[in-house]
Amino acid sequence: MGYPGHPPDHKRCTAKTRAGGRCLRWALKGSTVCLVHGGYLPSVRRKAKLRLALREVQPEMRAQLARDRARIEAEERFLDQVEGSPSIRKLLEEDQ
Ligand SMILES: [Zn+2]
Repeated sequence: MGYPGHPPDHKRCTAKTRAGGRCLRWALKGSTVCLVHGGYLPSVRRKAKLRLALREVQPEMRAQLARDRARIEAEERFLDQVEGSPSIRKLLEEDQ
């Protein structure tokens, strides 16, 4: 689905109707269901709140992971470069 003027599928209620189709009402913000399908329940509201909070920190967490990955890759490249140097070889031999 998903046509102009309608909310994207992930913003629609995921509940099934008695007829077997999908409820296509707007899901409440941060929630997967509409008001009719339990969106007012405390447990659903709590989860929605948590989901929204997580969405805010996720970009920050992803950025941190990317920085960590870049640092590890740089370290690997550095190790590859120095591995063959005489002083490092000597160090490695002393360790054995
Ligand atoms: Zn619904």
